[in-house]
Amino acid sequence: MTKKYIPMAVNGGIGFGAKLKPKQLAVLGKYLDEDTEIEFTTLQQLIVQIPEAELEEAQRTFDEVGLHYYKVGKYVKNLRTCNFCKGEEEEGMPVAKELNRRIAGQEVPFTLKPAYTGCPIGCGEPLINDIGVMKDKDTFELYIGGKSKGSDARTGKLVKSNLHPEELYELVERILDLYRENSKKRENFYRFVDRLGIENIKQEIHID
Ligand code: SF4
Repeated sequence: MTKKYIPMAVNGGIGFGAKLKPKQLAVLGKYLDEDTEIEFTTLQQLIVQIPEAELEEAQRTFDEVGLHYYKVGKYVKNLRTCNFCKGEEEEGMPVAKELNRRIAGQEVPFTLKPAYTGCPIGCGEPLINDIGVMKDKDTFELYIGGKSKGSDARTGKLVKSNLHPEELYELVERILDLYRENSKKRENFYRFVDRLGIENIKQEIHID
């Protein structure tokens, strides 16, 4: 019988840079076939193929060593972040982790890439991702509709600034709901933002 594989995106979670520990690599190796290929993505993830029969056990073991894993396909990807060079609290790492916990893996009409950066220098490139969050002093700015590739690459549009964490989480959830409820089939998020227009979107999610 042909062995079935499930693709998973794996990383070490949000921290000071995208890093993996030897014991995490060892655990990964345990579930991968010898000649399998591992893809490194620009989203600080490894795409691996786990045998379906071992999936549950693999996930339990991943949890034990702190490996984070996400579905591959039409889901919100894990939050791409900067390296938090100025410190965990100052640059809002807990907020990035909580936002990631809430939205990563949500089903959406087309793969959606969120990004977070701990200060306006913007190493996490939030303005060229679908949803971008930038910490500025004690509050957060939320951008949507950025695009990094192609001749129509563009920066995202500001939804709102001076957001506190709970307001930020709430707005992002409302935007994802709006996208799910109103997008055309397989419509990219940036196209959806273009079609509706930033002012209409702000109205729909109740921002004056
Ligand atoms: S965005 Fe700011 S906090 Fe984050 S790595 Fe760059 S300089 Fe450091």
